Amino acid sequence: MSYKKMTLSGFVGIPVKLLAQFLALAGIPLVALGVLGWHLLDQDRAIENQRLKDRLDSAAGQLARELDRGLAGWESQLLAADSGHAAPAPSGVATLVIVSRGVAQRDGVRLPYYPHVLPKREAPSDVFAASEKLEFRERDLAGAAASYRKLASTDTRGVRAAALLRLGRCLRSQRQFESALAAYTELEAMSDTPVAGAPAELLARHERIVLLALTGAREAAQREAATLGLALSQGRVLIDRATFDFYSQEALLPGQPDRTSVQLAETVEEWWPMWLEQPGGRAARNSGGLAFATVWRRTPGGTVVMAGSMETLVRPLSALLRNLGVDAVLEDATGGRLWESQPVIGQGAIRSLRETGLPCTIRVAASDPGTATRVFAARRRLLGGGFVLMVLVIAAAGYFVFRAVNRELTVASLQSEFVAAVSHEFRSPLTAMRHLTEMLEEGTVEQERLPKYYLALGKETRRLQGMVENLLDFGRIEAGKQVYHLEETSATDLVRRVVDDFREGASGDADRVQVESTTDRFPLRADPHAMALALRNLLDNAVKYSPARSPITIRVEPINGLTGISVEDRGLGIPSEEQQEVFRKFVRGTSAKTLNVKGTGIGLAMADHIVRAHGGLLELDSRPGCGSKFTILLPVRPDQP
Ligand code: ADP
Repeated sequence: MSYKKMTLSGFVGIPVKLLAQFLALAGIPLVALGVLGWHLLDQDRAIENQRLKDRLDSAAGQLARELDRGLAGWESQLLAADSGHAAPAPSGVATLVIVSRGVAQRDGVRLPYYPHVLPKREAPSDVFAASEKLEFRERDLAGAAASYRKLASTDTRGVRAAALLRLGRCLRSQRQFESALAAYTELEAMSDTPVAGAPAELLARHERIVLLALTGAREAAQREAATLGLALSQGRVLIDRATFDFYSQEALLPGQPDRTSVQLAETVEEWWPMWLEQPGGRAARNSGGLAFATVWRRTPGGTVVMAGSMETLVRPLSALLRNLGVDAVLEDATGGRLWESQPVIGQGAIRSLRETGLPCTIRVAASDPGTATRVFAARRRLLGGGFVLMVLVIAAAGYFVFRAVNRELTVASLQSEFVAAVSHEFRSPLTAMRHLTEMLEEGTVEQERLPKYYLALGKETRRLQGMVENLLDFGRIEAGKQVYHLEETSATDLVRRVVDDFREGASGDADRVQVESTTDRFPLRADPHAMALALRNLLDNAVKYSPARSPITIRVEPINGLTGISVEDRGLGIPSEEQQEVFRKFVRGTSAKTLNVKGTGIGLAMADHIVRAHGGLLELDSRPGCGSKFTILLPVRPDQP
């Protein structure tokens, strides 16, 4: 019989093959899970990126639609303007009607000047022929003035304006400055009525400045120059660039002109050729840091144009951008920046002007690009945590399955060792009995030696019977079928009976066993046969696992209100790591191996079972090399075993 498997190290040691199988079985799903998890994370990242891309794409689409709606609104105004039913132009936007390469009408924002202005019809000069003859040929200035005054009172605005201009001139020549100034003031009120190639107001103010300067009224001249400057910069009259430049020479332009209208006037000059060449369209450009947009259309009545600050178009976008959580940049056809909500960082979505039909490209990016990364990191942590949890669950389940299988295998192996051990135990008394019986059958034994032979035969028979009963008891205990017949007994009596039996059986070793007890009987309620069996197993072990003749002490004493029966030897002792395992069935310890002691490994298991069935405890106190002490602790007269 090999002790290798029977020993404790054999029991707790992990069979390499089983471990390899377990690792392979648990490892494959774990690796598969790992790979799956990795792919899942990868896929999750791709999905997250796609989701962000889709979000930005849809945001860019919404912005494009919003801008398109704004421009379409302008375009519908174009049609209305063309049909003469124009609603007021949106704020910051100028509406122009260009006829014969000149601005014929305007609405909305008034620009200081336009590239070209359609000349307006002035009063025919022959109306003044007679008056001018008086003024220039006949030098009858008073007569001429009277004639001009008469003409200035007509209803025709052109004639009136031209008459007032001439009246002023005539009065000036007569050095009637106050009257001349009054004539110009009247002319000034005629605003943009054309006269001598310019709007009446500009011309009148110009004349007043000259006249005031001439008469030495410097302050009044200055005031007039400032008023002229204001009229020019506010675009009160429809003039072209050359007229503007001419009058601004003597005008006092305001220190802080309206930047939008100045920039828009410059932008209009840039766009002018495009408006005239192309039949219609949309455009946007940046001028001096301000973004402008235009829509125009050529109609039978002329080219209708709307041009203005993009601010009116992008204002509704701000709330949308906030809601969508994106930043946007609008760029013109050359990539120049028209407008931006915030500088756009990182990868985003683009709607080019070609695909949208808008005059600008829209670039969109997430306002907080870190959010996506943070969301992904959180999801990755969650997935990672889930994976680790799954690994732990699989590992724990695997460990318990492995332990159970290992335990079953070990028990199976111990069981087969047990069968071999039992057969071996049986063989020695049987061999002795067979030998003795053969000798008796042959009749060769001397007469005087016969009693000795019969004694030996009886001893072997009892030993065999004891072994068989021991096994039967074990079988019953294991099957849970053992019935205990409880009766009033005494621990001292029990010990004495077991020790007496032992001494009877032991030949030379009987004196080793010492019983220490007080005179007390230590009453018990127990099954005497079962309790004797437990005690006998402990005593047998003490004998087996300690050197011959070393003392064995059995003590009966009260311990913490219980009755204690201890069996103490000075043998090999039991290593601490074996002290629990030796109570398991079929387990044999180091001492059995070291001393090469025969046994089946059921003695302690049986003793423990019996003691527990009596409501007690079997305790072990052992130090390797010093000996072992097994103590049965039983309740004193318990009601129930
Ligand atoms: P067996 O004695 O048949 O091996 P037991 O169940 O009685 O089976 O004992 C289990 C093991 O406990 C023994 O193999 C032995 O290693 C150890 N053992 C039991 N009693 C003692 C003792 N008194 N001294 C040292 N070792 C002991």
